Amino acid sequence: MAEFDYDLFVIGAGSGGVRAARMAGGFGAKVAIAEDRYMGGTCVNVGCIPKKLFVYASHFAEDFHDAAGYGWHVPEPVFKWDELLKNKNKEINRLNGIYKNLLERNGVRVFDGRAELGGPNSVLINGESISAQRILVATGGWPHIPDIPGNQHIISSNEAFFLEALPKSAVIVGGGYIAVEFAGIFLGLGVDTTLVYRGDLFLRGFDGEMRGFLAEQMRQKGINLLFNTRIDSIDRQNGRYLVNSPDTGTITTDLVMYATGRRPNTNGLGLETAGVELNGKGAIVVDAKYRSSNPSIYAIGDVTDRMNLTPVATAEGTALANNLYNNQSRRVDYRDIPTCIFSQPNLGTVGLTEEQARQEYTNVEIYKSRFTNLKHTLTGNSEKTLMKMIVDRDTDRVLGVHMAGADAGEIIQGIGIALKAGATKAVFDATIGIHPTAAEEFVTMREPTE
Ligand code: NDP
Repeated sequence: MAEFDYDLFVIGAGSGGVRAARMAGGFGAKVAIAEDRYMGGTCVNVGCIPKKLFVYASHFAEDFHDAAGYGWHVPEPVFKWDELLKNKNKEINRLNGIYKNLLERNGVRVFDGRAELGGPNSVLINGESISAQRILVATGGWPHIPDIPGNQHIISSNEAFFLEALPKSAVIVGGGYIAVEFAGIFLGLGVDTTLVYRGDLFLRGFDGEMRGFLAEQMRQKGINLLFNTRIDSIDRQNGRYLVNSPDTGTITTDLVMYATGRRPNTNGLGLETAGVELNGKGAIVVDAKYRSSNPSIYAIGDVTDRMNLTPVATAEGTALANNLYNNQSRRVDYRDIPTCIFSQPNLGTVGLTEEQARQEYTNVEIYKSRFTNLKHTLTGNSEKTLMKMIVDRDTDRVLGVHMAGADAGEIIQGIGIALKAGATKAVFDATIGIHPTAAEEFVTMREPTE
């Protein structure tokens, strides 16, 4: 008789947890997973997937406008938020089902309920105590809203995905991925949109020039960007909100959304009782093999607060399942991870920013191209594209590639492979372009600009 009820008990059925559970199950381990909210976690329910669907929805506004330059005259388009919501929810329900099936097909027992640790080898759920040789915590993160007067009036991205009606105007506070993406979504759907950021320029950590370029593009599309702007309270008056700033005065709006970061979801999990060490931000501290300070408890994904991206969590889940149940030693390589902000236009990036490259290397060359997309020669749309490549002159290695423009996410994914393979500028130069595309600029940049 087995000593434990399960070989592996996973808490949290998000991107990382589901991947680890189903792979471990596929390798023959006896696995259970617990989820108290929604199958697929943040990405599937209130993150990447519905966000991208909303980005598509909002971009139609420009597409209808652009069509006229090609001879297509569309009658005044009518947008129905309730229809978008209904269709989005239907698709998410379908995905929830797929996730559950994936688990069950791999022999994983799915528990519907909130789990907490009863000790290093036990999980308490729905009044039961279940034992497991190993426990994996993959509970993700949760939006953090600052403690300011009136913060009960604030919504986070979680609620933005289920608004009963679209507001006429919205103030979004924050300057990270979520704030920037939602500003584009709201604007495209016809909301008078203001983005408020406390620093000089949003998207701290990204390439400075790309950030400036994106700000210029977003402003030109009609988003009111307020930088160096703090908010100290929010009031409700006559059905609207007064967003009070010591810097700009009061902004009156119909919706206030904060996207001011996410915190690891570690509260109430019983981690302290199981002797699991947390860092100052409440994230689980793990070693290179995702083991916490308690040797039978592991953690992956956003709950470890390292690179909070779905594909990173799934890569960690794959590595962990292989390490534990497939006799393979796998590690995730955290260098050169491509990423994209689904702003409008997209900002895709892989490798070092110019600022980072100049700190680490002495001879840095910058190649750049700023242009109007061929498509927009007929549309009158003034959107521009900026592409930038950072090269180490001593070794010719490409250190970083950045693009703000249509489909940058799609393009940078391919460039990410080249960087992972250690491509030099000469390799880019020897690659024949696909003409006419925007992407071909990356293989035709001949003269450094700096
Ligand atoms: P981020 O951590 O990216 O950004 C948080 C923003 O809020 C920063 O601009 C920060 O400013 C600001 N901020 C933090 N605290 C306060 C405060 N008290 N008052 C005012 N502003 C504040 O968080 P997001 O919520 O945008 O996204 C969470 C994570 O989700 C991201 O880190 C990303 O990993 C992931 N994500 C990825 C996406 C993708 O891959 N496309 C899409 C969406 C999310 P400052 O810069 O000054 O610190």
